[in-house]
Amino acid sequence: MKRISIFGSTGSIGTQTFDIAEKYPDKFSLVACFANKNGSLVAQQADKLGAGFIGLYDVDALSELKKTYRGKAVICDPKGDIDEVFANTDIVVVAISGFAGIGVTLEALKRGKIVAIATKEVLVAAGDIVDEYINEYGGKIIPVDSEHSAIWQCLEGINCGGDYRDHVHRLILTASGGPFRTFTKEQMENVTVEQALKHPNWSMGAKITVDSASMMNKGLEVIEAERLYKVGVDKIHVLVHPQSIVHSMVECNDGNIIAQLGNADMRHPILYALTYPDRVETKFGRLDLTKASALTFEDPDMERFPCLQLAYDALRMGGVAPCVLNAANERAVELFLKREIKFTDISKFVHGKLIELCDNITDGGKLTLDDIIRADKAARQ
Ligand code: NDP
Repeated sequence: MKRISIFGSTGSIGTQTFDIAEKYPDKFSLVACFANKNGSLVAQQADKLGAGFIGLYDVDALSELKKTYRGKAVICDPKGDIDEVFANTDIVVVAISGFAGIGVTLEALKRGKIVAIATKEVLVAAGDIVDEYINEYGGKIIPVDSEHSAIWQCLEGINCGGDYRDHVHRLILTASGGPFRTFTKEQMENVTVEQALKHPNWSMGAKITVDSASMMNKGLEVIEAERLYKVGVDKIHVLVHPQSIVHSMVECNDGNIIAQLGNADMRHPILYALTYPDRVETKFGRLDLTKASALTFEDPDMERFPCLQLAYDALRMGGVAPCVLNAANERAVELFLKREIKFTDISKFVHGKLIELCDNITDGGKLTLDDIIRADKAARQ
C-alpha cells in the first residue's frame, strides 16, 4: 500500500489522481489533499477516502475552511509546518498550477520523498535547484507529464549497461498542435479566450490549455525533458502529431525508434508514476489500435508558434532565462485569460522579458534559490 498526498488535489491532474486512489483502494491510501481555494472539494475528497489532513494555500479560504469544516481530517496550512503529512506520505503528488508548486516540491525533496511531478513549471524554472536537493537529500522525481512518462518508459527499453545517453540519438516529444494548428498568423491575431480553451484532445486546467494553444506548453516540455534526461538541447526534437496517440519516442543511435502509445487519458501516466516500477491492471480503458486513425507527424512551425522557439532559446541561454520565460508566460497567460492582452501578445511579452532581464539578473555564477525567486518576480512585473 502506497500512501499519497496530493498538492493541487482539486485541479485536472489532482482529481484524476484522486480517481486513481479511489479505484485502487488496495494499492493507495490518501493521506492529504491541498488546494488553493476550493475548500469544499478538498473536504469532500478527504471525507470520501478518509484522508487525515486537508488545507488551502489561500489564507482567507483556509480560515473559512477552519470555520466551516465538520469532518475528521486535521486542517493545516500547507505553507507552514506539515512535517506530519510528509512523515506519513510515500509519494507526494505535485499538481499545483505553475511556479507556485516550488515550495512543496523542495520541502518534499528535503525529506527524501518521492515526488510525482505534474508541475513542469517548477522543473523549468528551478531544475538545477531541484537537482541539488535530490543530490543532497536523496529524494526522487517521477514525471507525470504524458510525454516525459513516455520517454521514461522508452528509456527503460535501452538496457545496454552504462549511461543511456551514449545510445540516444534524440528524444522526440510529440505535440497535438492544439486548436490553432492550421491557423494562419493573421487568424491567430484575433483568437478568443474561448477558442484557446478548446483543446482538441485533452481536458486540462486553463493555464496549460492556453499553453498548448500557443505551443509554449511544448516549449516548457522541451526544457522539462532536458532537466529530467540531460541529453542536451540539440537532441530534443518536437513533432506535431495531431492524434495524440504516440505520447513520445526515443530514437537510438542504431536507428531503432522506441515509442509509447496510449489513449489521451492522463490517468495512465499518473498511474504509472504512482506504481513505478510496478505495473497494475488498468481500470481506464485500453487503446484499440484497429479503431485508431492514421498516425501522422510533421515538423512544428516555429514562425506561427514563436513560443516554442523562445523556449529553445531560453534553454540555450541557460541561467535564469528558463525561469524568466516561465514567469513571463504565466503572467501573460493570466492577462490573456482576463482579456487584457491578445493571444499573440503572449509571445511578444515573453520575448521582451527575456531580452530585458536575462543579461543582468545574475552574475553568471551558480544559481541560488534566491536568484530564481528574484528572476521570477522581476519577470512578472
Ligand atoms: P488546474 O488549474 O486544473 O488545477 C490547479 C490546482 O492547483 C488546483 O488544485 C488549484 O487549487 C491549485 N492551485 C492553483 N494555484 C495555486 C497556488 N497559487 N498555490 C497552491 N495551489 C494552487 O491545473 P492542471 O491540473 O491542469 O495542471 C496542474 C499542473 O500539471 C500544471 O503545472 C500543468 O502544466 C501540469 N500538467 C497538467 C496536465 C493536465 O492534463 N491537466 C498534463 C500534464 C501536466 P484551486 O482549485 O483551489 O484553485
